[in-house]
Amino acid sequence: MSHDMDLPVIIVGTGLAGYTVARELRKLDAQVPITLISEDDGSFYSKPTLSNALAMNKAPHALVTFDARAMGTQLNASILSHSKVERILADTHELIVDGQSFRYGKLVLALGADARRIPLAGDSAGDVLSVNSLDDYVRFRKRLEGAQSVALLGAGLIGCEFANDLALANYKVTLIDPAATPLSRLLPERAGHAVAQALERHGVRLRLGRSVATVNRAERGYALTLSDGEAIDADVVLSAIGLAPRTQLAEQAGIAIEGGIRTDAYCRTSAADIYALGDCAAIEGKVQPYVLPIMHAARALARTLAGEATRVAFPIMPVTVKAPASPTVVVLPDETGTWRYASNVSDESLDGLHALCEHAADGRPLGFALLGSATQAKAALLKAMTSGSFESALQR
Ligand SMILES: Cc1cc2nc3c(=O)[nH]c(=O)nc-3n(C[C@H](O)[C@H](O)[C@H](O)COP(=O)(O)OP(=O)(O)OC[C@H]3O[C@@H](n4cnc5c(N)ncnc54)[C@H](O)[C@@H]3O)c2cc1C
Repeated sequence: MSHDMDLPVIIVGTGLAGYTVARELRKLDAQVPITLISEDDGSFYSKPTLSNALAMNKAPHALVTFDARAMGTQLNASILSHSKVERILADTHELIVDGQSFRYGKLVLALGADARRIPLAGDSAGDVLSVNSLDDYVRFRKRLEGAQSVALLGAGLIGCEFANDLALANYKVTLIDPAATPLSRLLPERAGHAVAQALERHGVRLRLGRSVATVNRAERGYALTLSDGEAIDADVVLSAIGLAPRTQLAEQAGIAIEGGIRTDAYCRTSAADIYALGDCAAIEGKVQPYVLPIMHAARALARTLAGEATRVAFPIMPVTVKAPASPTVVVLPDETGTWRYASNVSDESLDGLHALCEHAADGRPLGFALLGSATQAKAALLKAMTSGSFESALQR
């Protein structure tokens, strides 16, 4: 089937992924019609700021830099906000939005992810909040009004950042995770212990190696029971246990899924003229729900959409944990390696902890974790990684 060249590029999603592709494409092509469609109100905001907005004394709406109308003007694009895409008809290059049909020349799926939920028992399991959008955050801040204590489920990046932010704003925070240390998917154990100590020093109560079993309404707030039987009271319960890429729409259209919406190195899905990126996508089989990979993917995809097929080339991309109690920078190893601690830190104190991950056989650098003042070594270690050995960076 041939497709009319004047049909728009339609981008579904106005998060970082959708808006960055639109901005990059517009830089390359002043003419191509661009339509963005979003279930939310189309505001542009920095999602990472949601987990440190209290410390910055920012109300949720102060995080919005431009509303949908301003974004439409800037990008010379049509923006349909509060509009949910219900179906993709890949063969006829159509989308169904609120019962209406829209034809596309090229379609970009930038749908984001849903917060994962763990099954909980109890009469108030449904009251547990999660935050993965500005609207979620507005609800969360409303519930914090008059509250004193928060139970946080999940000590990953987002859980640790929220815990720190809430503690800085004087909430009594209990952070609960089945792993033995916080940031267990990012950090080797000893570094994780150091983060745990830092969070505790900043007033966060940790309950590690345990999960939440039940959430019931109490006289004030909620009564939680942990898997070891311990009871915890909290006025608000926030879950931050991870994200599940939004794949349903693509799956219904017969598009291949592999952890996320599967794409090749050009962000091309298995359906002609349909691309994906951001938290919903598994680019070459890998979901990378962070800002830097999204920016790189968006720039390459914009070139492809503008007619110059461009592979996404990811450089080494460090992840930064924005918790002032434990500033942390990590380059996650792609393969299993051996961790060693390179600084002369002996007491597991946070400051200056370097952990380096190297290939067991040939000593190639695979990743690193830096805590506290050691985060200053980020640039030198990134350089060392590209040079093939950590030694040059360590001799400084
Ligand atoms: C609290 C928090 C802190 C974070 N901190 C960091 C950090 O410090 N560093 C970092 O690198 N990353 C961080 N991240 C991750 C980063 O923010 C995300 O990876 C990124 O914002 C995802 O952007 P996205 O555009 O893929 O998805 P989203 O921002 O979720 O956008 C998805 C869009 O799709 C739309 N949509 C979905 N389904 C439909 C439909 N059917 N019809 C129409 N529209 C639809 C939604 O309305 C929305 O506009 C953080 C995330 C959170 C939640």
